[in-house]
Amino acid sequence: MSDTYTAADLINGALGSLNPPARVCIFGDPITHSKSPIFQNAALKAAGIDAQYVRVHATPEELAPALRALPANGFVGANITLPHKSAALAVMDQVDDYARTAGAVNTVAVEDGKLHGFNTDGPGLSRAIREEFQVDLRDLRIMVLGAGGGAGRAIAAQCAVERCERLVLVNRTVEKAKDVAMELAPLLRSDRLLGPSDRLIVAPHEISFLREEIEMTDLVINATSLGMKRTDAPVLPPELLSPHLMIYDTVYSAGMSRLVEDAIAAGARATNGLSMLLHQGALAFEIWFDRSAPLEVMRAALKDA
Ligand code: NAP
Repeated sequence: MSDTYTAADLINGALGSLNPPARVCIFGDPITHSKSPIFQNAALKAAGIDAQYVRVHATPEELAPALRALPANGFVGANITLPHKSAALAVMDQVDDYARTAGAVNTVAVEDGKLHGFNTDGPGLSRAIREEFQVDLRDLRIMVLGAGGGAGRAIAAQCAVERCERLVLVNRTVEKAKDVAMELAPLLRSDRLLGPSDRLIVAPHEISFLREEIEMTDLVINATSLGMKRTDAPVLPPELLSPHLMIYDTVYSAGMSRLVEDAIAAGARATNGLSMLLHQGALAFEIWFDRSAPLEVMRAALKDA
């Protein structure tokens, strides 16, 4: 059998009779592209856990009944991906503080028959930045492109929770970034940065604003959906890229994204989003199974995917 199933398969109990039984899954629409089963199944095998991780295709209407069917079907938990991360919040019996601040749930744990919502995207990004650039978010002036989207909001929340030096929230629809800034402002209210510049800035995704702000930025994180296709417009015009920058592109499709290519050509340090994918998955594994994730096994599985 394939490792992609329907919400009806889950609700009807068909996934518990697989060998090994499905005990964790990822919900999305579409879902066939998800790489999570590759490294989560490697982790389950390495940890000697008799269970498998499967993809479940769920439409927006199917999400709530499918989530509510997890406890009765022996599931330990689930991941949530596009387009369901915000909608999943309302279905949870309990939501941890960071997931509430991020406005989205990407990890669900079944605890005593109840659904407990977490978000490992932000903490996963934080670990990825430390691994890729040997720096902590709190020491950086950060620009988040796509800060009003699902991943962007979670990343912005993580930067604020870690009290980064300066945070610039950029979004094409600038009102969404303003809403995020309103929520995060209390976290960044102190005066850590000396000088005349504000610590929390909102800007539209327009070259004139980007040019001005990028001068005062150490790390740019692309959390827009631009760059998933080679034919997409550039996320940042190449002339704005310079050697002082670190660029983290959350896009993780095969090969280098155009942004990463342009950044490296400009002498900047740059990497794609595979490390965030790995670390958000490892953190989810630790929530579900209450033990360390076999990170190197997961990394190797992802590398071979
Ligand atoms: P989303 O909620 O649909 O958000 C998309 C964002 O992109 C919005 O801010 C949107 O702006 C912006 N955008 C779309 N088209 C644009 C354009 N032409 N110009 C400027 N901005 C544009 O999607 P998401 O779930 O946050 O995913 C965003 C990206 O994060 C994807 O590339 C995904 O692969 C990546 N991601 C990576 C990981 C990882 O582990 N590496 C995890 C999660 C997500 P508007 O608000 O104006 O529409």
